[in-house]
Amino acid sequence: MDDLTFRTDSQRLIELLAEVHALGRRVIAPAAAAVDAQARFPDEAFAALREARLLSAYVPTEYGGMGLDIVELARICEVLGGYCGSTAMVFAMHQIQVGCIVHHALASPYFQAFARRISDEQLLLASATTELGIGGDVRTSTCAVEVEGGRFKLDKRAPVISYGVEADAILVTCRRAPDAGPNDQSQVLVLRGDRSLEPLSDWDTLGFRGTRSLGFSLSSSGDAAQILPRPYADIHSQTMHPFSHVVWAALWTGLAADAVSHARAVVRRQARKTPGIPPPAALRLAEVDTVLFSMRNNWLATATDYRARLEHAGCGSFPSDFGFAIRVSNLKVTASQLIVDIVGKAMLICGIEGYRNDSPHSLGRHLRDAHGAALMVNNDRILGQTSTMQIVAREG
Ligand SMILES: Cc1cc2nc3c(=O)[nH]c(=O)nc-3n(C[C@H](O)[C@H](O)[C@H](O)COP(=O)(O)OP(=O)(O)OC[C@H]3O[C@@H](n4cnc5c(N)ncnc54)[C@H](O)[C@@H]3O)c2cc1C
Repeated sequence: MDDLTFRTDSQRLIELLAEVHALGRRVIAPAAAAVDAQARFPDEAFAALREARLLSAYVPTEYGGMGLDIVELARICEVLGGYCGSTAMVFAMHQIQVGCIVHHALASPYFQAFARRISDEQLLLASATTELGIGGDVRTSTCAVEVEGGRFKLDKRAPVISYGVEADAILVTCRRAPDAGPNDQSQVLVLRGDRSLEPLSDWDTLGFRGTRSLGFSLSSSGDAAQILPRPYADIHSQTMHPFSHVVWAALWTGLAADAVSHARAVVRRQARKTPGIPPPAALRLAEVDTVLFSMRNNWLATATDYRARLEHAGCGSFPSDFGFAIRVSNLKVTASQLIVDIVGKAMLICGIEGYRNDSPHSLGRHLRDAHGAALMVNNDRILGQTSTMQIVAREG
């Protein structure tokens, strides 16, 4: 994978990215084919990421984390995406949940202590937003949290919870109370020891197979302090929505960049055979690199805007305007389309070497992972929401 550093990068980030590249080459990439073939969790990758203390990369330093900002974190996701799409996706999904806690729950003594636990124990957090009967409409819940005597009880039938079995905790969306409306939602932290997971469905998919996103019937209970203190409506608009689409777009860019690297290797080999005469595929390589350039700049621009909003707000609470929400949705839709375009173009350049499963330049896994991007919150659902905002948003 290419070295994607900028002259403006801090020394700390340069060293961290070099460390992640080293892990990628030594541990993550060698296991990627087996993770994909067996649809198994990337255990060795997460052992290494935990050892490097990267699961608390976004936890503020006062709680024992690295205190990275969203742009720095997304840069790590991008690098990981170049080595194993599933590893990068699990890492990104974990960080989104960490972001929800860091932005919206650190006023609570319970979550201050939990943030320290994420750092000390390198806890892995998963998410259960999707619900049976509702599909991907994350701003609607059927299940409700019930609180009595300082304890909560929450059951949810979730058709997809990535790495639900492997996670130390799951953040679950639900209605705020049994008498609350479907959009009046809370987010609840469910700890491993306080939940049971009854499998509902397996995870035998085209791509992102190592995320092990089985369906479960989840039953849980715990301390009422584990309910995030802010309404999910705020958490969603200020964190879940922008954070997810930034880190996903970044890792998809890394995956696309790796496909282009394979294409470049093939073209370079062709060029060595005909010194002085560029092979015809070199033109295609130049073309696909322009698309990759756009894809990367899209997520960087959105992440930089998001970071500025977070910094301006102090900790999380900024009014999310329609313009920002539309740009975030546009990022997701374009990135999920460009990844398929780029991998397809790289395939054309690699030819049969990219098409074969047994070739060092095989792009089969890249192509299968790429098609998952449009479905992770379905693009049509996103465009449906954006179309409404387009009508009411101000010009400019
Ligand atoms: C790799 C991967 C990992 C995932 N991990 C998790 C996880 O950890 N936790 C979790 O909760 N979920 C997870 N998901 C689920 C995901 O985020 C979506 O919620 C889920 O894939 C939605 O499934 P769906 O496409 O059947 O549903 P829908 O989004 O309901 O879409 C079904 C169909 O209906 C159409 N449709 C529905 N509503 C509308 C609308 N309003 N406007 C336009 N079209 C509409 C869509 O176009 C589509 O054709 C994961 C998904 C993937 C691919």
